[in-house]
Amino acid sequence: AVQEILTEVLVLGAGPGGYTAAFRAADLGKKVVLVERYPRLGGVCLNVGCIPSKALLHTAAIMEEVKTLGVMGVTYGAPEIDLARMRAGKDRVVARLTSGLAALAKQRQVQVIQGTGRFESPNRIGVETPEGRVRVRFDQAIIACGSSPLRIPGFPHEDSRVMDSTDALALTDVPERLLIIGGGIIGLEMASVYSALGARIDIVELKDQLMPGCDLDLVRVLEKVVKKRYENIWLKTRVASMSAGPEGIRVVFEGQHPGEELYDKVLVAVGRLPNGQQINAEAAGVAVDPHGFIKVDQQQRTNVPHIFAIGDVVGAPMLAHKAMHEARVAAEVIAGLPSAFDPLTIPAVAYTDPEVAWMGLTETQARAQGIPYEKGVFPWAASGRALGLHRDEGFTKLLFDPETKRLLGAGIVGPNAGELIGEAVLALEMGADMEDIALSIHPHPTLCETIGLAAEMAHGSITDLM
Ligand code: FAD
Repeated sequence: AVQEILTEVLVLGAGPGGYTAAFRAADLGKKVVLVERYPRLGGVCLNVGCIPSKALLHTAAIMEEVKTLGVMGVTYGAPEIDLARMRAGKDRVVARLTSGLAALAKQRQVQVIQGTGRFESPNRIGVETPEGRVRVRFDQAIIACGSSPLRIPGFPHEDSRVMDSTDALALTDVPERLLIIGGGIIGLEMASVYSALGARIDIVELKDQLMPGCDLDLVRVLEKVVKKRYENIWLKTRVASMSAGPEGIRVVFEGQHPGEELYDKVLVAVGRLPNGQQINAEAAGVAVDPHGFIKVDQQQRTNVPHIFAIGDVVGAPMLAHKAMHEARVAAEVIAGLPSAFDPLTIPAVAYTDPEVAWMGLTETQARAQGIPYEKGVFPWAASGRALGLHRDEGFTKLLFDPETKRLLGAGIVGPNAGELIGEAVLALEMGADMEDIALSIHPHPTLCETIGLAAEMAHGSITDLM
């Protein structure tokens, strides 16, 4: 007989969305069952996304940084890389976090069921576990089934030399020549890692700039640095075909840089597809669009009032911090609290070297939508701290409403930009204006000081820089 479990709240998927929702609901007194197909909790972010990539990027950034110490009279020899230990180091970070999650689930008496879940009706889900089939009957459900790497039909994805981000993070070897298809955040982050490890990198991007969606002035700074490190960056270029042979992966390009090249490995990083079509949502009456996205309202409710959805499966931006905030909203609404997902902004960060971070209105959006703005830019070449880091290429940019002088958006490029953008997010959410930011005393000498100084530039209280 099939085992049947009763619960108040069923959470499907244990990524940053799912585990946050499960924990919050349990903290609010609900009986929670969390279903996850993999033995480890944490989803893409902890296992094959944010966390392992950042562990590797930190190493890559230091490997690049020590090269700058020559000017201070310190030089190092060529690095000796033990790939097995690097893999183990990264895996340890992941294991610490995922086992921590298992302990947190236990503490809260969240029942974790390992298995693949598919809805059977609006109040029931079937789960195929390694020990057999289980049925869970629930009052309310939160769908947090995430997304998977997008594959391109006709490409030899079955060949182990054609990688997705999960394969690239597995770090099985360092290819001599690596092609990265897709100049978005994930592609550029993996380029940083493999370049530091000694691979010769080509990047191909369909659009006319790297990191589409980010202001070009920010991207240009990154581009100038990586152009020296990578062999080729081809924009407005498309991979027309790809074939796997004994000598390597042959790739044909068309567009601005037509031609044919041979690679040892190729990373396909062209986007992610939501997993909405894999959960038999129809049986629950939940509408899934043809791409696999599930539409929700500000309470994270799907078209079925007792079923909620959060994270990558509800749409862009596909980011862990968005998933976690939506998760809290869903859990709180289920617990009867007045909660809604209504952020003024969701920050974006590329943990490349240099880092690029932005939030709120971008200049590209402002121009496209005819939104007036005033701008304050502080170049890091005038920051003592940046000079001390031997990294003067960055800058901090703030956009303000010309009428109210309130902050509208911010973009930062340079080391630690991802940490710095947090201040701008808080300023925007708090409705801070130019003076609030300029008159807040920032510690000296820091990189965060450039935020205060950018506001002073906009305010006109600093006019000449150097
Ligand atoms: P997921 O993390 O995808 O989790 C969904 C879970 O549901 C998975 O564990 C899956 O196994 C499970 N599941 C799916 N279907 C079923 C089913 N039928 N039954 C049982 N279980 C199921 N975001 C950031 O904010 N910062 C970063 O630095 C960052 N770096 C990234 C780097 C890489 C290489 C990648 C690929 C992504 C990165 N992301 C980053 C994005 C981030 O990982 C996702 O936005 C986030 O994981 C989404 O969380 P989620 O809970 O919606 O889904």
